[in-house]
Amino acid sequence: MRAAHKERFDRMVADLRHKGLKLTPQRLAILRMFSADESHPTAQDLYARLRVTFPTMSFATVYNTLDALLGAGHVATLNLGPGPRGEARATRFDPNTEPHHHAVCDVCGGITDIPATTRALVASDALHSAAPGFEVRTVERLYRGVCAECAGTKGSETRLLS
Ligand SMILES: [Zn+2]
Ligand SMILES: [Zn+2]
Repeated sequence: MRAAHKERFDRMVADLRHKGLKLTPQRLAILRMFSADESHPTAQDLYARLRVTFPTMSFATVYNTLDALLGAGHVATLNLGPGPRGEARATRFDPNTEPHHHAVCDVCGGITDIPATTRALVASDALHSAAPGFEVRTVERLYRGVCAECAGTKGSETRLLS
């Protein structure tokens, strides 16, 4: 487990314990897996992976644990709207609660975190005219497109889509 993930895991455990949640081996396994997961999994994704080690785990346990993390501010959620064929998509969960942007592939649904720089906090002229006096705290952008793997350009130079 990477140091940043371990730190995240420790904070989750401390906060949930503080809130009086009983940390069973199953719940700890959920926290351990989720804190290190950068794929922005759905609750179903996590459940499927955890079932390999914990065949008796219920979906409710996964969902309740995510819900407790949400309540403690350790999870951000991401709703991407309908998929490429108009299908409804489940909420994705993100253990990275620092402000950041996302690049979303419309083909495979892959999501990559893009670190947000403080430069992004400089509000645009459009914002000033549309919402005068609006105080920007964070900026979260969603870049949508096709990832290199799906575009078949992996390994070659990244093409800039304008
Ligand atoms: Zn893709
Ligand atoms: Zn993210």
